[in-house]
Amino acid sequence: MAEPYKIVIGLEVHVQLLTKTKLFCGCKNQFGLPPNSATCPVCLGLPGSLPVMNQQAFELALRAALALNCQIATHPGYPPGFTKWDRKNYYYPDLPKNYQISQYDLPFSHNGWLEINVAKDPKKEYVPKKIGIIRAHLEEDAGKNLHDESGRGGDTLVDLNRAGTPLLEIVSAPDMNSPEEAIAYLEEIRLMLREIGVSDCEMQEGSLRCDANVNIHVPVIGTQHATEHSDFHATPLVEIKNLNSFRAVGRAIAYEAKRHYEQYLQDRAGRFRFGKMLKTTAGWDDARGITVVQRHKEEAADYRYFPEPDLVPVVVTAEQIAAARAAMGELPQAQRQRLMAQYGLSAYDAQVLVAKGRATVAYFEAVAQALGDGKTAANRMSDLIYPALAERKEAITTFPISPATFADFIKNGPANSQDRRDVFQLMLTQGLDLAAAKAQAGIKDLDETALRAAVLAAIAANPKAVADFRSGKEAAKMAIVGAVMKANKGAPNEVVRRLVDEELTKG
Ligand code: ZN
Ligand code: MN
Repeated sequence: MAEPYKIVIGLEVHVQLLTKTKLFCGCKNQFGLPPNSATCPVCLGLPGSLPVMNQQAFELALRAALALNCQIATHPGYPPGFTKWDRKNYYYPDLPKNYQISQYDLPFSHNGWLEINVAKDPKKEYVPKKIGIIRAHLEEDAGKNLHDESGRGGDTLVDLNRAGTPLLEIVSAPDMNSPEEAIAYLEEIRLMLREIGVSDCEMQEGSLRCDANVNIHVPVIGTQHATEHSDFHATPLVEIKNLNSFRAVGRAIAYEAKRHYEQYLQDRAGRFRFGKMLKTTAGWDDARGITVVQRHKEEAADYRYFPEPDLVPVVVTAEQIAAARAAMGELPQAQRQRLMAQYGLSAYDAQVLVAKGRATVAYFEAVAQALGDGKTAANRMSDLIYPALAERKEAITTFPISPATFADFIKNGPANSQDRRDVFQLMLTQGLDLAAAKAQAGIKDLDETALRAAVLAAIAANPKAVADFRSGKEAAKMAIVGAVMKANKGAPNEVVRRLVDEELTKG
């Protein structure tokens, strides 16, 4: 680590669940509807209305909790699986009930972990690291205030479509130590929750939101110390909000860590320390690249939590847990490890492939099995299919070249990369089969006998190059190789070189 301190990061992530309806009422859970069209007495907080828990939300949350290796509601003094709802009281214009139904002391899941992969050496090696999950609980979302952003002080409007949308709040342990690790954690959460169908995790639409808790540990050099905690000075916690992209998360953390160190160095009185100052809430201003202090936060007692009287507690059963586990499918990290073991992929190749999602992995496996060579299948997909998908803005599921056709193309198509690209393009854009595409690209199938004949012909036609080579000019043989390649489009370069070597040294 280059910095003279350690960054300590914990992330709090909120994801909206992919349910049809809201958490406690039958209103649609859908982004982009006309303002206030998806509302009812329950989510508007009208007196006398009563919430009813959405079973689908609970199932999705349970699936996510299991994927995060959490314990399901194991609370001392309570029966296994016992969890309840609590009211978190606060007033805000986008919260018409004046409280949020959330979970406080008995969350439905806790004590988990998520393994992330941190790129050690960019693009080469990935090192796994386990990030602790303190808890994951269910709660309802608030509505949305739409402020006048022109700066002319116009009215703020309130859209309550989002009020009551199911949210899963995932609180990590402070186990991340760099902006890159924080981003890797978010990428893994997003990939995993998408793959298991829990959330679409669209940061732009607010279905994944993230707050970062950051401070730094500065080693204290030369002090007498007995405990590990006196080995370093910890700066006060800051919680950064308004992070609306993964890039912003990384920038904000890097900025904040640097700011902490500067303030620490100026702080002769030793006041800028964890435990001596209240936690600060700061907003990230992405355009200016700085954090702006919003308030100094009190502890949770602020919210006057109490058990929600309108909802019965939930007891999660072993059958529900088994069903959620069965619905989960293969998780990304397990999938990477399997692909490495089964197809000999590198950690990097497995990382790239799995990040593309399950459909792409299935495509890869079909190609690799037909070809009997996973490494080559992965390489060719990287060279040809990923760029084509990006260019065509297309999903693998509608890609016109089937895995069987692609495997045949790899096996029997041109061996050199430029010809391969040309033939692939013809197959893709004109729907030609391999033979027709090769013919159109002017590529002949050549066996070694034919190539050797071509080499002999080129030797006969280039006496000057041959003489130069025999008088010691190694490089002269490239003229022969070039002549053969020119006359035999698609011939594998390394075979031609070998044949030229053989024939020239025959004497
Ligand atoms: Zn409603
Ligand atoms: Mn929350």
